[in-house]
This record gives sequence, structure tokens and C-alpha cells, in this order.
Amino acid sequence: MRPFIAANWKLHKTVEESVETAARLKIIIEGVNDRDILVCPPFTALEEIYHVIEGTNIMLGAQDVFWEEEGAFTGEVSPEMLKNVGCEYVIIGHSERRKYFNETDETVNKKIRASFADELKVILCVGETEEMRDQAKHRDFVEKELEDGLKNISSSDAKMLAVAYEPIWAIGTGQTATPEQAQEMHAFIRDRLSVIFDQKTADSIRILYGGSVKPDNVKELMSQKDINGALVGGASLDAESFGKIIKGF
Ligand code: PEP
Repeated sequence: MRPFIAANWKLHKTVEESVETAARLKIIIEGVNDRDILVCPPFTALEEIYHVIEGTNIMLGAQDVFWEEEGAFTGEVSPEMLKNVGCEYVIIGHSERRKYFNETDETVNKKIRASFADELKVILCVGETEEMRDQAKHRDFVEKELEDGLKNISSSDAKMLAVAYEPIWAIGTGQTATPEQAQEMHAFIRDRLSVIFDQKTADSIRILYGGSVKPDNVKELMSQKDINGALVGGASLDAESFGKIIKGF
């Protein structure tokens, strides 16, 4: 499967800073054609970044989307609007959105279906808290996030789907899941996807690992059978460090 390395810049970078980082990244990854690369800057920088990366193998993504096409929904942005500024992907259900902005599996599902209706590809984020893992409830929790988040989505639409397994205890903490812990959950997720869709579809969906991915741990993580990519937060803010991750396996 073609590896997929994605950057989530979160609430960082002005337009100028975003453009500078993307321009540096473009130079660093020149000639790297055997993997998919995605950058997800804040909404304000999307259009400018599109012009920087146009014609390269870096794709553009947003960090969230709303499910309605238009209307009185102050502050929201639709899938069509994201496509209009050059987005190919959107991240949906990131744990920070679930925690701080009341994102639920139901709203995640609405957002995914609306995105697919406009042929906007999706990275669905799932992952458990440390407490859930300690209580051995992590599998059940992730299973529910997948089942409810992917309700009423066809196998053919699932071609536009990638899943990111992001254990919440590993995000921004420097505490990475061990390659074995990650592999075990990725295999579990693929198995659940085979029930939700079918085996062939599950085998074609890329499952990314997210949670303190760095240049020095990417190789070991990417060597695991069911780890098909990485969703990178902190270490993607610097073009050199993100470039090392992209080239590091
Ligand atoms: C993320 O928020 O998607 C993430 C994985 O962050 P970090 O790499 O900083 O842990």
C-alpha cells in the first residue's frame, strides 16, 4: 500500500509562516514520489498554500468541516468550500475536536457523509484515553467510534477514507505507542473495517498512526504490517523535521 504521511498544523502559523513552511517542504521532498504527502494548515492559509504546492505531490487538507452545504451556520465551512480552495482531504473527529468542541460520533458521521457527497476525502481519527486503556476498554471504545462514525457509508465511498489511530495519551505528550501496541490496534481496526464494509475494502483503507511521531521513531512504526502512514502534529510544524519523517522509512 502506498504510504501516507499527513501533517496537522492545528492552531499554528499565520499565512506567511504557513507559506514559508510549505515552500521549504516542497524543496525538501523534491523527487520523493513513492508516498502520499498531505499538509493540513489552518483554514486561513489553505488557499495560499494551494498555490505553493500546486503541481507537486503534496496534497492539501483541512482540519475540520461542517456538514451543511450553506446557510445560517456562523463560523462554519462546507466540503464544497474546501474543495473550492484546493483541498483533497479533511481531518474529521480529531480528539481535540471531540474534547473541546463537543464533536460526537454522530456529528463525525454527518461530516464524513457530507464530505464524501462532495468527493472530499477523509481522515477519520479514532483513539482511546489512557484511562480506557488501563481498564482494557480501548478496543470497545475504538470499535464504537468506527461503527458509529462510519454508519450508512458504502464500500464504494470508503475508497475516499483513511483512518488515523491516535491514542489520546500519545498526542503531544512525547509518549508514543510502542510499535507493537500500535500494530495490535491497527490490526483490530482493519478487522472492524472488514465487518463494517468487507475484507477487500478493509484491506484497501490506509490506517495511519498518530501520537508523537518523530523522525527517530517513524521507521519502526512504519515497519509494522498494518501501519500504512502517519498523522503528525508537533513534528510537522518544522519543514526539516517533517521532511525527515517523510523520508525516514
Ligand atoms: C495529532 O494531533 O494528530 C498528533 C498526532 O499530534 P502529535 O504528533 O503532536 O502527537
